[in-house]
Amino acid sequence: MRNERDPYRELDLACRKLDLMTDQIEKNMEIFRRSQERELELLRSTDLDSLFRKITHYLRRSYGLQSVTVVIADPDHELRHLLVSGSRRTEPLPDVHFVEALTGITPRYTALDKPWTGPFSGADHQMLFPGVAELGSIAIIPLIHQGALFGSINFGSSDKHRFTRQHATDFLAHLGIIAAFALENVVNRARLLRSGFTDVLTGWHNRRYLQLRLTEELARAARDGTCLVALMLDIDHFKNVNDTWGHAAGDAVLTELAHRIESQVRASDIAARYGGEEFVVLLPATNTMAASRLAERIRNAISASPISVGNGESARITASIGIASIAPDRDSKDFKTLGDSLLARADVALYQAKSAGRDCVIVEASTGAKA
Ligand code: GH3
Ligand code: MG
Ligand code: MG
Repeated sequence: MRNERDPYRELDLACRKLDLMTDQIEKNMEIFRRSQERELELLRSTDLDSLFRKITHYLRRSYGLQSVTVVIADPDHELRHLLVSGSRRTEPLPDVHFVEALTGITPRYTALDKPWTGPFSGADHQMLFPGVAELGSIAIIPLIHQGALFGSINFGSSDKHRFTRQHATDFLAHLGIIAAFALENVVNRARLLRSGFTDVLTGWHNRRYLQLRLTEELARAARDGTCLVALMLDIDHFKNVNDTWGHAAGDAVLTELAHRIESQVRASDIAARYGGEEFVVLLPATNTMAASRLAERIRNAISASPISVGNGESARITASIGIASIAPDRDSKDFKTLGDSLLARADVALYQAKSAGRDCVIVEASTGAKA
C-alpha cells in the first residue's frame, strides 16, 4: 500500500517543531539577557572591593550556586594594598584568595585558556574552594589579561549535573572576559586615585590625603569620644642644605627624614608630607603626653646621626615639632573647620619651637581643647 501523505499531519508536526524552536530561542534570549545583566553589573563597579563582592555574592545568588570564589595572583601585594587604601569597608572578603603564584592551584591550572567544567574533586580543587568539603560540580573560569592567566572565578554547585564535561562554556568564557576587563578597570582607577594621594619624592601620603583622613579621624574621635593629636614637623635651616649641597642633596635628606619618622610611628598613625619640608603625623586616640614622647623620639631619630648628601659628605639635620590636640564633641559636624584649626594650632606650636631655638618639641598651651 502506498504511503499517503497527510498534509494536515505534516503541518501539525511542522507547527510543533516551530513551537519547540521558538521556545528554545526564547529560553536562549532569556539566558542571553540575564548574562548581559550580570556582566553589566560587574562593569558598573568602581572599586575593587565592590567588584569582588559582586563576583562572590551577586553572581552566587544570581546563578543559584553554593560557592563562588576568586583566586588571583598578587605577587607584589599590590592588589591587597589597593583594596585596603581604596575602601572604607573593613569586612573581610573570605571568598577572594590572593596567591603569590598560580602554579599548583589545580592540575594544569596555568594552561587554562577556556572555562573548565566538570565534577568536583576534593583533592584537586581544594585551593579553589578552601574550607568547602563537598560540591557536586564546578566551573573554573580563567581570568586572562594580555594573553596571560592571572587567576580564575570558580563556580561551585552542589548539583553533580550542573557543570558537566560536556557543558557549553561560551557564556562562561564571555563572563570571564568581562570580569577580567572590569578588574583591570577598577585596578587602574585605584592606581590613579592612589597616585593622586601620593607624594612622588618620598612615596608618602600627600597633603590631599592628609586632609581627607583628618576629617575622617575627627569624625571617629567625635563618635568614640577620643582625642586626636597632630604633630607638625619642619626641618631646621633646610634652605642651607639646598644652598650648600644642591637640590638633589636636599631631596635625599627629605627622603631619609621620611624614613626616620616612619621608623618611629605606628601603622595606625597617619603620616604625610604636608609641604616642601614639612611633615604631619596624626595620632588617633592619643593624649598629648604620649604624643610628646613620640615627638621626642622622632626628633632624636632625626638628629642622632648625620644624613648622607652624596660625594661622601653628610649633613647634621635637626627638626622642630609643634603639637596640638583636639577632643571633638559628640555632636560636632563641621570637621573641615575643626581640622583646619587643629593644623593651624600645631603650626603655631611649631613656630614657637622655632623661636625657642629649633631642634625641640613644643606642645600648644591649651592642650586637649574641647571643640
Ligand atoms: P627654618 O628653620 O626656619 O624652617 O628654616 P628653613 O631654611 O627650613 O626655612 P624655609 O622653611 O623657609 O625653607 C624651606 C626650604 O625648603 C625652601 C625650599 O626651597 C626647600 N624645599 C621645599 N621643597 C623642597 C623639595 O622638594 N626639595 C628640596 N631639595 N628642597 C625643597
Ligand atoms: Mg618650612
Ligand atoms: Mg624649615
